Amino acid sequence: MRCPKCAGERDKVIDSRTVRGGDAIRRRRICLKCGHRFTTYESVAVPALQVLKRDQRREDFDPDKLKRSIAYAVAKRPVPPQQVEAIAEDIRREVEEERGTEDLVPSTVIGQKVLKRLETLDEVAYLRYASIYRRFRDAAQFFSEIENLIGRQ
Ligand SMILES: [Zn+2]
Repeated sequence: MRCPKCAGERDKVIDSRTVRGGDAIRRRRICLKCGHRFTTYESVAVPALQVLKRDQRREDFDPDKLKRSIAYAVAKRPVPPQQVEAIAEDIRREVEEERGTEDLVPSTVIGQKVLKRLETLDEVAYLRYASIYRRFRDAAQFFSEIENLIGRQ
């Protein structure tokens, strides 16, 4: 492991312990060139998460795309960009936590998570997102969704 201080390439492990409940190993190392001590972590490489779309195609889960879709829904609404950022990060973490050993998550699962948050955040943004991700079959369905929102107040 290259020393972060002097870029020397020889080191010695001086301590090794499991962390994160056994999911990772933490190693203290000492650079044999300059004596600098540094830490490395080792964990099982997790395969990239993929999204299963409605048309059964798969694509890599892209947190930026998730963020953009939320930003699009809240455009010109009184929602600060930091909040969009926070929601996207929140969902990304949730999806990663729930995946378990799965490497595939249905796009609808992600869509539902976004909807759940937008619902309490901004109704216009919620409807915009819903109209895209639920693909309302017709205007009637769209208006019944609006009625649901109004009825809840
Ligand atoms: Zn060094």
